[in-house]
Amino acid sequence: MNVQIIGDGNITNKNFNASFLINNNILVDSPPGVLKKLKSLDVNIDNITIIIITHLHGDHFFDLPFIILHEYSKKRTKPLFIIGPKELKKDLSKLIKLAFKNRLNKYLSKLNITFIDSANIQNHEVEEGVFLSSVRVNHGNLKNCYGFLLKKDNKSLSFTGDTEMCPGLTYLLKRSSHCIIDVNNSGNHLKLEQLENLIKEFPINYIPIHYPENLENKLSGLSNIKLIKSGEQFYL
Ligand SMILES: [Zn+2]
Ligand SMILES: [Zn+2]
Repeated sequence: MNVQIIGDGNITNKNFNASFLINNNILVDSPPGVLKKLKSLDVNIDNITIIIITHLHGDHFFDLPFIILHEYSKKRTKPLFIIGPKELKKDLSKLIKLAFKNRLNKYLSKLNITFIDSANIQNHEVEEGVFLSSVRVNHGNLKNCYGFLLKKDNKSLSFTGDTEMCPGLTYLLKRSSHCIIDVNNSGNHLKLEQLENLIKEFPINYIPIHYPENLENKLSGLSNIKLIKSGEQFYL
């Protein structure tokens, strides 16, 4: 498996928002501006067959209307699967109405898009031999936030979405060799100190995202941490 980090920052800092691309075809989260960011990284949008939205905060899905508009204008025929919380289609339709004064159905009538509730993703074969499962995580009072586990042969990658310390997070860490982890260090997110304790308990490879710029030095000094910047890839 390969993972290209599209953004490792959060919405209020200069680094692009948390988003990444797995095996060149699974996009995780679509923060504001991600379509332009993908294009600037020469990512072929046509190759993206699955978009996973971890949860319905604006910094994770507000560019979805523009991705859909892009595919509509390109007359895409290839199927696109959008995996997210069960409220995603309703929220997306509101966004499209606000953004373009149009109905989502206008785009869905021409595009081959299937929405899948993250809750139903358990050992779902997303490409040959690659299996995806979801797990609920806690993120303040927002319902239906998910982390995910991706398995291929003996390789296992997890990603947390935005999360606090919770059973879903430790479930993922127990089952993966690499974890792309929210370290926003404030509010309803994982704190640096909690990450340090997790590294001791689960000494796997951690790829922090969604972190503030001022955390970069501290993170780079920790064991088991790989800082992967926007546009860079890692392999497992
Ligand atoms: Zn969030
Ligand atoms: Zn966020």
